[in-house]
Amino acid sequence: MPVHAYAAQSAKSPLTPFEYEPGEIGREEVEVRVSHCGICHSDIHLIDNDWGISSYPMVPGHEVVGTVVRKGPGVANVNEGDRVGVGWQSGSCGVCEFCVHAEENLCASQSATCVGHYGGYADCVRVDSRFAIRIPEGLASENAAPLLCGGITVYTPLRVYDVRPNMSVGVIGVGGLGHLAVQYASAWGCEVTALSTSDNKQEEALALGANHFVNTSKPDAMALVAGRFDFILSTVPADLDWSAYLNSLRPKGKLCLVGVPQSEIHFPGFPLIAGQKSVCGSPIGSPAMISEMLSFSARHTIEARTERFPLEKVNDALAHVRANRARYRVVLDVAGVA
Ligand code: NAP
Ligand code: ZN
Repeated sequence: MPVHAYAAQSAKSPLTPFEYEPGEIGREEVEVRVSHCGICHSDIHLIDNDWGISSYPMVPGHEVVGTVVRKGPGVANVNEGDRVGVGWQSGSCGVCEFCVHAEENLCASQSATCVGHYGGYADCVRVDSRFAIRIPEGLASENAAPLLCGGITVYTPLRVYDVRPNMSVGVIGVGGLGHLAVQYASAWGCEVTALSTSDNKQEEALALGANHFVNTSKPDAMALVAGRFDFILSTVPADLDWSAYLNSLRPKGKLCLVGVPQSEIHFPGFPLIAGQKSVCGSPIGSPAMISEMLSFSARHTIEARTERFPLEKVNDALAHVRANRARYRVVLDVAGVA
């Protein structure tokens, strides 16, 4: 049975219907019948070949929820009929230092769901079963799909950088990742400031758990937050005034990037030295961390606020995200595409 998907045939081109034969299922593989797939901004970077790693035809999609419909003979962790999620990562070597310590997201030989592999803007996707994670019952599929990349990417830094409940946390960008970061940091117990360029997101950011909202496009905004944060998470896919953000950290504060800037980052060394500050980054999260994040989300009723488009309207959906009009994650409804 062919897989029915939507693919970009070249960099920046609109997506068009595309079919492919998935071939024999691998020993450790599962085939997931997709019901929902979120549109992460990384899909847009990949369609546009911003990172120089895309190959075409390119089927985006790495915020998948669906049902396991087939599995290889070596698969023991999930069964046919299970509702699972698949994120950015679709495989790893399984034997390196990072894989054996449940840090597969740091494996040098990892594979990605939609890089050199056909992703989730499709009726089916196949991955190594270790990267198909069961979804807890309390989470609705359409709201859970964005947790598989957006959610885990902002949850992991709270854990690995030891963010504590008494800390002041700034979240730059209230988009797909950012609106989830506000919710996690708030549930974590932190004092949360949403740093946004969109005034019309203020009310919802506060409703999602932010204690403060700062419009960073106003001239005095960065002076207002000078010396305020213990931890800043930047979820923005653009270049910012990084020096101003370093200045908004308290001593020992960390500026953590998960959003991918367009250019190299430059900032003066002195504030890092004098304030013992750090600049760091974080990629997605391991399967164990994804399971933990999903349980945490179900327990704290954290979910993505979504707008839904049928898969056939994927180009309209992508335009909506590119225009920064999504509130806050666009999710494609995939059932019935064939
Ligand atoms: P998104 O939904 O498009 O949201 C990005 C937000 O950033 C926008 O809503 C906007 O928020 C703000 N923004 C956009 N352009 C801006 C600009 N020029 N200046 C200032 N702010 C701007 O994107 P997303 O899906 O959350 O992804 C964000 C980034 O994270 C992308 O670069 C993506 O590739 C990256 N990412 C990284 C990982 C990882 O593992 N590290 C995983 C997933 C995604 P306001 O309107 O509030 O200003
Ligand atoms: Zn993503």
